[in-house]
Amino acid sequence: MGVVSARTEIQDFVESIRLVDHHVHGALKTTLTREQFEEVMTESNRARRLGTTNFDTQLGLAIRRWCAPLLDLDAFVDPETYLQRRAELGADEVNRRLLRAAHLDTVLIDTGFAAENLLDVDQMREFAGAKSFEVVRLEEVAEDLVRSGTTAQGFGDAFRSALQQRLSSGAVATKSIVAYRYGLDVPHERPLEGDVARAMGQWLGDVEASKTVRIVDPVLLSFLLWSGIDAQLPLQIHTGYGDSDLDIIRSNPAYLTDFLRAAEPLGTAVVLLHCYPYQREAAYLAQMFPNVYFDIGEAISHSGVQSRQLIAESFEIAPFYKQLYSSDGWGLAEFHFLGARLWRNGVSEILSRWVEAGHCSQADATQIATKVGRQNAIDLYRLDSSS
Ligand SMILES: [Zn+2]
Repeated sequence: MGVVSARTEIQDFVESIRLVDHHVHGALKTTLTREQFEEVMTESNRARRLGTTNFDTQLGLAIRRWCAPLLDLDAFVDPETYLQRRAELGADEVNRRLLRAAHLDTVLIDTGFAAENLLDVDQMREFAGAKSFEVVRLEEVAEDLVRSGTTAQGFGDAFRSALQQRLSSGAVATKSIVAYRYGLDVPHERPLEGDVARAMGQWLGDVEASKTVRIVDPVLLSFLLWSGIDAQLPLQIHTGYGDSDLDIIRSNPAYLTDFLRAAEPLGTAVVLLHCYPYQREAAYLAQMFPNVYFDIGEAISHSGVQSRQLIAESFEIAPFYKQLYSSDGWGLAEFHFLGARLWRNGVSEILSRWVEAGHCSQADATQIATKVGRQNAIDLYRLDSSS
């Protein structure tokens, strides 16, 4: 087989994969002003310096290169023209075009963050032309329970049954954002019921005093993680890259090592999300622990053309059957689309290079792309038996 045809065949194959995007949120239902669009382009909540634009980034280049043609514009039009056209088409049409172009089989949707203005699980199914399933945020279940009234002593049981209730309507995984609320260095051992009740008493007192409901106690957060393990569905854990209230050092998934050791005998899969800039730590953990998986979502869109380096690093030491595809799209359908577009570009290029240089066969290459792009997620979340 000639070099040129191997490259073309791998590219065509990777284009044809209907991806399973195993961690996303909804796209915004509203038409955005330039300022609103610029805000959602970055994870930072800080005001931009006068005279700068968030289009002056890898993400900005990627939007102008890859998204503009989907809105009937030339590649590399200026941001103003892009956003004018976006507004002219309206949110529904833009969402439909970008989500369809991602060519997805299934999306797993984290419904737990600022969901009011986002397309919900059913709407995402419709707009993306893909199957969609819910992922339930543990912290949200706990906070809802506090809002509707619970006691310190009764919280443990109430939480377990509230979680079962939420999971019973077709959810395929649980998710923890402990990295946002404390750090991944929460106590790794399963907390005792008495400690949970004590911590809960303290939290209820804080809620009474501050009138805000936000779970931040490390013992309670650890209890939630263990409840996720007990629920026996894959437990997604946010690690690495995230917005401004995160301590990036304490989001290193390596902090979870003792927790992973302690939870390993129960067999529940733990899925490390995002991971950047710790994709190598995540890859290491995925190699060490039979039940650990990871993705490099979010950073793919934000690193644009450089995402191929990130993808190449994720392919270093982790078994190919432990890696998953995600865009971590939130708000802008550009994220859902670019995650897929840039993943396909990077994976095609890397695998073609391996085949051309004789490091693997074409059959190996297509199998790796299939596993990471969809099959691992189908197996892990049992999507072939979900409906
Ligand atoms: Zn996310």
